[in-house]
Amino acid sequence: MKICRFNHDRVGVVEGLKVYDITDLLELSLTWPVPLGDAVIPQIQKLVAAGIPDLHSRPSLALASVRLESPVANPGKIIGAPVNYKAHIDEANADKEINTGKTYTTLEAYGLFLKANSSLIGPHEDIQFAFPERRTDHEVELAVVIGREAKNVSVEEALSFVAGYSVGLDMSLRGAEVPSYRKSADTYSVLGPWLVTADEVPDPDNLKLELLVNGEVRQQSNTSLLILNVRQVIAYASSIYTLHPGDIIMTGTPAGVGPVQPGDLIDASVEAVGSLSIKVISGPADKKGL
Ligand code: MN
Repeated sequence: MKICRFNHDRVGVVEGLKVYDITDLLELSLTWPVPLGDAVIPQIQKLVAAGIPDLHSRPSLALASVRLESPVANPGKIIGAPVNYKAHIDEANADKEINTGKTYTTLEAYGLFLKANSSLIGPHEDIQFAFPERRTDHEVELAVVIGREAKNVSVEEALSFVAGYSVGLDMSLRGAEVPSYRKSADTYSVLGPWLVTADEVPDPDNLKLELLVNGEVRQQSNTSLLILNVRQVIAYASSIYTLHPGDIIMTGTPAGVGPVQPGDLIDASVEAVGSLSIKVISGPADKKGL
């Protein structure tokens, strides 16, 4: 099933050209302290597993008419895999603006990084250019959304902890600063257009992914070329961090990364998951007075 968040925190099921509103099936009362993780993702998993009652008689809207937000509202963390495609490692090592003097070898040698959860937006918001004088690149990635708590999970059992998949954009300022700074500006993490539940993606390690800027193909690859595959990335991440429902793992970007500018339109897609289009605009400083 395709689960979206839309029109200011409504939750819906996308079928064809329609969104069926299931918000009233969710328990959204506030407790404190809030348990780590996103409270809705496990509820969605239960609903999908049990079958959503009277889905087609629920209120529906035309998909084209809704504002799509990030399908995860409250990820505890967004985990990035920096060098997980051989061809991207090669291009990074050949481009001083990307490597800033480092030589990338293996993902394990470089480790994972965290992106601020405040950087997350959905496809109907805009990427706001945070560093006007600096190079900011697009990175399309298969994004994994965790469904239940995971710590030290094995490669074999890793996929059983997945709620679903989305298209991810890991927007990246190039430069010598640490990744958590360069990739965490507001709007620098994009997730959408919805969450495709894991049952619809039996093999996440064989999905085409593509990114276009203003209609021109910049990135085109397949998750079969991941160095650490999806199971291995989840197991690796869970060996360091306890993973909670709604945590997002961006599994790495293939070759073809490159700069974007205000005014650009990015189209990103992952096979079996979906496609999103998002604009790049000038930073908030330029919006003063609007
Ligand atoms: Mn990335």
